[in-house]
Amino acid sequence: MAIQGSCLCGTVRLEIDGPFPSLMSCHCSMCRKQHGAPFATYASAALAGFRWTSGEHTLGHYAASRYYTRSFCTTCGAVAPSLMPSEGLAFVPAGTLDGDPGIRVEGHMFVGSKAPWYDITDSLPQYEAYPPSLGDARPMQRRVVAAEPGKTVGSCLCGDVAYEITGAPAAMYQCHCSRCRKGRAAAHGANLFYKLDDFRWTSGESLVVDYKVPAAARFGVAFCRQCGGSTPRASAAGGTVVVPAGPLDTDPNMRPLAHIFVASKAPWFEITDTIPQLAEAPPPPRLTR
Ligand SMILES: [Zn+2]
Ligand SMILES: [Zn+2]
Ligand SMILES: [Zn+2]
Repeated sequence: MAIQGSCLCGTVRLEIDGPFPSLMSCHCSMCRKQHGAPFATYASAALAGFRWTSGEHTLGHYAASRYYTRSFCTTCGAVAPSLMPSEGLAFVPAGTLDGDPGIRVEGHMFVGSKAPWYDITDSLPQYEAYPPSLGDARPMQRRVVAAEPGKTVGSCLCGDVAYEITGAPAAMYQCHCSRCRKGRAAAHGANLFYKLDDFRWTSGESLVVDYKVPAAARFGVAFCRQCGGSTPRASAAGGTVVVPAGPLDTDPNMRPLAHIFVASKAPWFEITDTIPQLAEAPPPPRLTR
């Protein structure tokens, strides 16, 4: 059984011989910053059964640590699989997969680095750092960032793009639309909506790539060209800035109002919290997809 995957813009395509041995959600700050999602979910697969079918030349690579290089589409910023030839493994973000890969999430790792606004409500096993099956139990150092009272700050994975927001968000939604899932390469996005006047880049604005989906009225994503890390998108209409909550360094002091576009939810992800669910778009204030 061959499983297909693709990025948001469709340039990067891949194929993997299934089935996958495991599927695990990771709440570490690096995954949250790269994906721009509340958490990332990864399938590990044998590298021997992995093939790029198009767009390999458009991949960008960022050495996030001595051991792990993260890859992304340089056109749309979507996180791409990371290949580890030394281990013979491919780590595939499940949000990139088309259709149903046939397996379900088995647990949560790096919950010690979890976003403060995200509650894990399922009954799957939780690991402070790596699960024992992956051998390495070293916890990741939690990055503590101080912000002035009333300010929310965020940054990309490499740290060169940074921003601050004053004032409160108008809304926060967990979005399950297919574009958020592909753009974040995750189960769903978590987006905050602020007034553009309240938002300011504090560094690296020139590194930000803004990608609008050609077929969409307005939908797009933004990311750092160096690391692929998800960034706010300041070009949204209506004087609004869309801020992915995953990369924030401080608590935005808002909790998700609803799961939206639930009709498009990933087949491998189950919603277990009590946050209201909407099949399609939320009521105003909203952004046209
Ligand atoms: Zn792409
Ligand atoms: Zn992670
Ligand atoms: Zn960056």
